[in-house]
Amino acid sequence: MILPNPEQLLPEMVATLKQHLIDRDIQEPRFIGIRTGGVWVAQALLAARAQNEPLGILDVSFYRDDFTQKGLHPQVQPSELPFEIEGQHLVLIDDVLMTGRTIRAALNELFDYGRPASVTLVCLLDLNARELPIRPDVVGATLSLAPEQRIKLIGPEPLALEQQMETSGS
Ligand code: 5GP
Ligand code: MG
Repeated sequence: MILPNPEQLLPEMVATLKQHLIDRDIQEPRFIGIRTGGVWVAQALLAARAQNEPLGILDVSFYRDDFTQKGLHPQVQPSELPFEIEGQHLVLIDDVLMTGRTIRAALNELFDYGRPASVTLVCLLDLNARELPIRPDVVGATLSLAPEQRIKLIGPEPLALEQQMETSGS
């Protein structure tokens, strides 16, 4: 399998997102990255837009449906949302979309802060393994992996495949 390089995916994502916002006449999008992998993707998108827009950070650990199975996470940090959610057009960003459970959790958390006017979903990679009816509006690339395979992705470096014994999801 030929793995894409995030650096090469980002420019097209920026262009697609820009057109998506124009089509919907969204003037003041509010960007939110999901900790941890969504934060660098969000920062890269914002840097490319060069409009000095603030970035919100969401930590959905407490909202995961498997939170109790996973035990306590000492690394859970509070979400940081430096703007209102109520009535705003949000752009929610994550690195990898797999089952859709992280996005479900993110939406639940966001709605605890207020009722957004819209939420646009941006993901660098779609692993094509959805368990919930969630689809990205903007996606860098779609990959189909074997069940035990995961993508190693810690920043804009080129991707690598890794084998894993049990499924992870954070
Ligand atoms: P989901 O909740 O959609 O099953 O999984 C998405 C979340 O799990 C994302 O926040 C992502 O960071 C993480 N994730 C799932 N699969 C992978 C993978 O193969 N590689 C990496 N780096 N993260 C993954
Ligand atoms: Mg994650």
